[in-house]
Amino acid sequence: MADTISVINPATEELIKEIPVDDSVIIADKVQQARAAQPAWAATPLADKIAAIKTFRDLLVERADSLAATLTAETGKPITQAKNEVLSTPQRIDFFIENVAQVLAAQRVYQEPWQAVPGTGQLEEVITYDPLGVVVNISAWNYPYFVGANVFIPALLTGNAVVYKPSEIAAMTGSEIAALLHESGIPNDIFVPVIGTGLAGATLLEHPIDGVFFTGSYATGQKVAMAAAPQLIKVQLELGGKDPAYVCDDVDVAAVAAGLADGAFYNNGQSCCALERIYVHTDIYEPFVETFVQTVQGFKLGDPTEPDTYLGPLSRKPQISVIEQQLQDAVAKGAQVLCGGQSVHRPGWYFAPTVLTNVTHGMTVMGEETFGPVIGIQRVSDDHEAVALMNDTDYGLTAAVYSSDRARAVGILGQVRSGSAYWNCCDRVSPQLPWTGRNHSGIGSTLSTLGIANFLHPRGWHLKRYRK
Ligand code: NAD
Repeated sequence: MADTISVINPATEELIKEIPVDDSVIIADKVQQARAAQPAWAATPLADKIAAIKTFRDLLVERADSLAATLTAETGKPITQAKNEVLSTPQRIDFFIENVAQVLAAQRVYQEPWQAVPGTGQLEEVITYDPLGVVVNISAWNYPYFVGANVFIPALLTGNAVVYKPSEIAAMTGSEIAALLHESGIPNDIFVPVIGTGLAGATLLEHPIDGVFFTGSYATGQKVAMAAAPQLIKVQLELGGKDPAYVCDDVDVAAVAAGLADGAFYNNGQSCCALERIYVHTDIYEPFVETFVQTVQGFKLGDPTEPDTYLGPLSRKPQISVIEQQLQDAVAKGAQVLCGGQSVHRPGWYFAPTVLTNVTHGMTVMGEETFGPVIGIQRVSDDHEAVALMNDTDYGLTAAVYSSDRARAVGILGQVRSGSAYWNCCDRVSPQLPWTGRNHSGIGSTLSTLGIANFLHPRGWHLKRYRK
């Protein structure tokens, strides 16, 4: 009998269903199918590829309710946030559709004036782009529509075949994404789902492929990079973060505190760019902390299928132990728990939203990714101290500064290593801007025109026309 993934509802701990996983024979077959089909897909006119992706986009909107319900059932994401994810994905798709032709267009970068002398002629230099070929997309569960579409939409539009391994935590959603793409006209052997755990992901990387686009943790990303290294293929890694915000002394404290609480706790803190550390200028520290805690205590925790629930359960049970260990370490070293600090007594993997003060960088909660509803708030005496603390991390995904002075904020952000820099905002992704990280937050970028070009091999043409 085939192995299965047991899909458990994190809010009720009930088994939703068993999904059979693909074994190594099936995986080998799927990669070969994609390999055989890819040249015909590359040769398919761009207009036909765009038409299929537009249909997919329209189906997402049309079926948003039922797609969001699946996502909520298997990950515990509150239904309003799940629906927001499904309905915001078309924005990214539209960006790719509108910009792919421009990225694919051949560019004549040099042309000599025509030489009239016999034996000479004219040199022309042109850049064209070819698809990578067969790319593997190994995906995370926390935003399966967003992080999936960031990869498979531009990959398909640029003529690649995609072997897509959704996370085992969002396998039902992954299967629904594949069914929708096939229904939209993407051939079955051009978008090929592989269902399984990390073992299926590792098995995929043993096959000859032309690129791996991974979204997940630093620890797994490192394994993926090492497994892909012998093939010398393109490796793109969108990994975790320990994202900081610094609140200067010149802000509207109430508004900023409310915004930052959302940045830390949206999706239960299970966002790669969730705020995980907040530094507050000493002059406004007390009122900031007070308003922040009040906001957090106002968040409605409960049944994720109810539209006004803001905090559902965690998507993975083992994460509760990670959080508990970080809290024990923090408290033992002097942190103060202003709210939360423990699991919630009800069925499901619920953890109360937790605000810590008196934190230091000697605590794991200020160094390692928490990926849960916990935030540490640290007092700082000036901008220099804030910069030093923001940079004191292995990660570098995003950084935010709140100030009424743009020059001050931009000056601070310029000194912080991060892929995204936010002034007076946080936890924000834009299709127009590259989504990228420094250090342990990853390699490469999705979104923006760079996130389309990453699925292409450039070719330099040296073209000489000779005069006879
Ligand atoms: P994860 O690393 O546990 O798993 C990611 C994927 O890798 C899953 O599909 C998993 O099955 C697969 N996998 C596991 N072991 C593998 C192996 N040895 N070889 C190949 N594949 C393997 O991460 P997760 O729990 O799914 O996601 C949470 C992490 O993702 C967090 O660290 C979060 O910050 C990060 N993330 C980053 C971004 C970003 O854009 N930077 C976006 C979303 C999530």
